[in-house]
Amino acid sequence: VRVAPADIGGEAPSGRIFLLTYRDISQTRRIDRMRSDFVANASHELRTPLASLRGFIETLQGPAKNDAKAQERFFGIMHEQATRMSRLVDDLLSLSRLELKSHIAPEDPVDLVPLLGHVRDSLQLLASDLDVTISLEVPAEPVVVRGDRDELIEVFENLVENACKYGQEGKKVEVRLTGGEGSQAEVSVTDHGPGIPAEHVPRITERFYRVNVEASRSKKGTGLGLAIVKHILTRHRARLLIHSEVGKGTVFTVRF
Ligand code: ADP
Repeated sequence: VRVAPADIGGEAPSGRIFLLTYRDISQTRRIDRMRSDFVANASHELRTPLASLRGFIETLQGPAKNDAKAQERFFGIMHEQATRMSRLVDDLLSLSRLELKSHIAPEDPVDLVPLLGHVRDSLQLLASDLDVTISLEVPAEPVVVRGDRDELIEVFENLVENACKYGQEGKKVEVRLTGGEGSQAEVSVTDHGPGIPAEHVPRITERFYRVNVEASRSKKGTGLGLAIVKHILTRHRARLLIHSEVGKGTVFTVRF
C-alpha cells in the first residue's frame, strides 16, 4: 500500500512504502475465553469436594468429637471426596500432557485384538457390579494400527466404562472390532441405555460438559473423560463418531 505522508500525518518522505497488517483476533479471543472458562470450571469442580472436606473436619472437631458412629461415617465420605479430587487432578494432568504433544503422532504398531481383550478384562469388575455384560467381537487375525498402546487403552476404557455406567439399564455393552489387512480399522462400543438427546451430542466431548451433572457425579465422573478421548484420537488421526437414539442407546465408533 502506498501511503502519502498527508494520509498518516507523519513526517515520512513522500513515496515511502508502508505495510499495514491486519490480524483477525477473534480466534485468539475465543481461545482466551475457552481457557478462562476451563480454569473457572476446574476450580469450581475442585472447590466443591474441598468445601465438603472442610465442613466435615469442622464437624469432627466440634459436634461429632465424641460420636464414634458419626465419625466413621464422615471419614468414609471424606475418603470419597478426596478420591474424587485425585481423579480430577489425574484427568487434568492427563489433558495437559496430551495438549503438549498434540502435534506429534504416535507411531508404534499396536494390535487392537489383544488390546480390546485387556480393556474388557480390566472393566469386568465394574460391569458385574453394575450387572452389565460386556461382549467382545474381534476378527481372527491381528488388526494393527499405528499409535500409543497406553493411550488407546485409555480411549477404550473410557468409552466402555461410560457405556456400562450410563447405559447400565440396557444390561449389555457390545464392543466390536472390524478391519484388518488393507481395510480401515474401526471399533464400536454400543450400549442400550437411555441415549443422548441430539442437542447434547455435538458438545459431549467438551471439557466438563455433561448431560446431567448430578448423574455424572454420582457415577464418579469428572466430565473430562470424552475430552481426553478426543485429544488422544486427534493425535492418532482417528475420528470419533457418535450415534445415539433416545430410549434406544448409543454407539461410539472410533475410525482409524
Ligand atoms: P463423565 O466423567 O461425566 O462420565 P465424560 O466426558 O466421559 O464425563 O462424558 C460426558 C457426558 O456424556 C457424561 O456426563 C454423560 O452425561 C454423557 N455420556 C457419555 N457416554 C454416554 C453414554 N454411553 N450414554 C449416555 N450418556 C453418555
